[in-house]
Amino acid sequence: MTVKTHIPQERRVVTAIPGPKSQEVLARRSEATSGGLGLSIPVVIESAADAILVDIDGNHIIDLGSGIGVTNIGNTSQRVVDRVIAQVQEFTHTCFTVAPYINYIEVCELLNKHTPGTFKKKSLLVNSGAEAVENAIKVARHYTKRQAIVVFEHSYHGRTNLTMALTAKNMPYKEGFGPFAPEIYRVPMPYSLHWVGDKATITQDALDLVTHKIDKEIGAHNVAAILIEPIQGEGGFVVPPKGFLPGLQKYSNDNGIIFIADEVQTGFARTGHMFAVEEEGVVPDMIVTAKGIAGGLPLAAVTGRAEIMDSVHAAGLGGTYGGNPVACAAALGVFETIIEDGLIARAQHIGKILGDSLRALATKYPVIGEVRGRGAMQAIELVVPGTTQPNPEAMQKIIKYCHSKGVLVLNAGTYANVVRFLPPLVITDELLLDAMSVLDEALASL
Ligand SMILES: *Cc1c(COP(=O)(O)O)cnc(C)c1O
Repeated sequence: MTVKTHIPQERRVVTAIPGPKSQEVLARRSEATSGGLGLSIPVVIESAADAILVDIDGNHIIDLGSGIGVTNIGNTSQRVVDRVIAQVQEFTHTCFTVAPYINYIEVCELLNKHTPGTFKKKSLLVNSGAEAVENAIKVARHYTKRQAIVVFEHSYHGRTNLTMALTAKNMPYKEGFGPFAPEIYRVPMPYSLHWVGDKATITQDALDLVTHKIDKEIGAHNVAAILIEPIQGEGGFVVPPKGFLPGLQKYSNDNGIIFIADEVQTGFARTGHMFAVEEEGVVPDMIVTAKGIAGGLPLAAVTGRAEIMDSVHAAGLGGTYGGNPVACAAALGVFETIIEDGLIARAQHIGKILGDSLRALATKYPVIGEVRGRGAMQAIELVVPGTTQPNPEAMQKIIKYCHSKGVLVLNAGTYANVVRFLPPLVITDELLLDAMSVLDEALASL
């Protein structure tokens, strides 16, 4: 079995998007699948390799979304394909807590090794990012014997009941889905573009606000965990100002609070580090991973200080499918590919091309209010020119234009005015630059 190297890494639009075959299947989608599901690009995919998705009409689409930061090492990556095939031929399931197998343990060993922190760590595998966040909260509460959880404005942590409560944005994530879990406290996020205070002192001012709220409104001794995305994903790639994460880490350490990094979207080489907290040398007590971990197979993890992870009684954690052997086989292929193919350096290289291109566009088009992000995780926020007022209409037009030209981009943002770029780390420079030229056309067309 070889990877589909016959899929050339170039954009090719041969029909209108959606083409006739996609239109037909999309009509069946409407008939058969829940109306509660969203849809980014109206095409139906037949195959994919690296950074190209091929639809059933034969269009070759540049993938700047990676299935929301999942196929970091490229679609149908060779080591993942090989290891998955080998594993399904051995066995597909036993349930790790019924009869264990080695690749679950190997994935945990790699997570313990590659996550920040020199202390002894242990891991737990589950199926999705939301499930991993839920388990991190369970463990943090159990360990600290405290209940309160502190989360941030603009945060996104998932769609299950607890993670909806942890997530900031009402529409579409929470509207009509309550009641929500208690003991969740939301504090301000230093979102510099929309910060009303003095931007020169944003880090200290935000830390003062957050710690004041915790001290006076919750009581630090009641807080089990502070949970934060090192760069916010769905919230619009909001990057905390330098010093904010280290400040939160110190406050957590000083107050016996578990500091949890939700690296579900930022993880696995995406930002030019294996994990985004490394940028400022931040060492979380627990780290939650998913998305990029297994090349698209459902897998997620909680990794943390051994004494925290071991504080739960046997059988207090688990689940039928968590750490499925096929998903674990894929994860081993992902780790190997990131390390052997130098994809952390590759993410930095992509970051330079992406950042330079987006900043050049920002000087040309005043509708771009800010370019932000790191490595292969960057975004543009669209504003009414000359203001910081959100411009969701511009975002919609840009995304629609890019999709019609065979470039898949994703939206984001509390104000629905962010276009985000999450290319696979194996995308060629030529393909990325081609996508940037389409983005230029899209901005010109406004
Ligand atoms: C996607 C995401 C989640 C939820 O992961 P699922 O696998 O969709 O449940 C949680 N946190 C962050 C930061 C995410 O981006």
